[in-house]
Amino acid sequence: MSAIPDPTTVLSIDDLKGWGHPGTFLAVLGWPISHSISPWMHQAALAVMARENPMFSDWVYVRVEVRPEELACALDRLGEAGFRGINLTVPHKVEVLPFLVGQDEESRAMGAANTLRLTENGYYGHNSDGYGLARAVEESFGFGLKGLRVLLLGAGGAARAAAVQMARSGVEGLWIHNRTQSKAEALVAQLIDSGCPSSLMKVGMPDLKETDGVDLVINATSLGLRPEDPTPVGLALVPGKPACYDMIYNPARTRFLGEAAGLGLPAANGLSMLVHQGVRSLEIWSGASVPESAMAEGARTGLEKILSETLPSGQ
Ligand code: NAP
Repeated sequence: MSAIPDPTTVLSIDDLKGWGHPGTFLAVLGWPISHSISPWMHQAALAVMARENPMFSDWVYVRVEVRPEELACALDRLGEAGFRGINLTVPHKVEVLPFLVGQDEESRAMGAANTLRLTENGYYGHNSDGYGLARAVEESFGFGLKGLRVLLLGAGGAARAAAVQMARSGVEGLWIHNRTQSKAEALVAQLIDSGCPSSLMKVGMPDLKETDGVDLVINATSLGLRPEDPTPVGLALVPGKPACYDMIYNPARTRFLGEAAGLGLPAANGLSMLVHQGVRSLEIWSGASVPESAMAEGARTGLEKILSETLPSGQ
């Protein structure tokens, strides 16, 4: 057996063979995974929780690099090793579903799981992304989703979790705008099938004739991950004075957010969503209340560390 893993190391599935380390382990699985700041977030929260309850002092959160074809094997090994909780990121959130012993209602409606909890029979799936987004909007702009007119950009996994959360939170209108319109149409059809009211959702861009204005625009596309990416929508074309939330947090200021600031619109990046989904995941695994401020501080520390590692040497 090798030394107890440092929370900041990246493990492979080979490292999980014959796992015999003392402690309570949590992990995030992804491909790639070295950009993930989740260990810093969770360890910071756990350090505060351990002061109240020593049971948390041996909890360790690690990153495991898992290729798509390794997912089933990784879950078997993590289960055998007794990993109590797992987060999933790209590309595993949907592909994991056939390997679960069950799913909660939220994760079923979202068609994806980002949080797994070990049970006697195997891993059970939850999804904390929608909760994370709702809390992030509240924290960033000071209002809840209920009654809002929302323009959602994107029709991938993150957009679906966001759309389900919006429908459940009682938004007044939801426009889904995506580069590939057929995917937005398919997403709306899936949402209606899973019980979301059809009167709520429209595909495309809102115009002034059908609404007095949009209250919130959410970028749930991957456009903005590269500094040279354009904005997914010209915000000047959106009716009203919407608050603008970008799920992307690295880079911290995408062109979308820059344009929002230029138009004098309230704007925030996706770090708060990441933090709040992490809080909910740790609540699910621990059954305890999780300090949000420690999780947020851990996120900032992790991001600084990751950014310093990716800067060219000498900078
Ligand atoms: P995904 O399933 O791969 O979906 C990608 C979306 O981006 C699709 O709607 C796609 O449109 C669109 N897109 C990609 N390239 C584009 C381009 N060049 N022009 C216009 N649209 C483009 O990814 P995902 O898992 O939903 O993630 C989406 C974003 O949310 C990512 O940036 C991810 O980092 C972020 N995210 C953040 C959090 C958080 O906690 N902050 C959590 C989850 C996700 P098409 O359908 O036309 O391909």
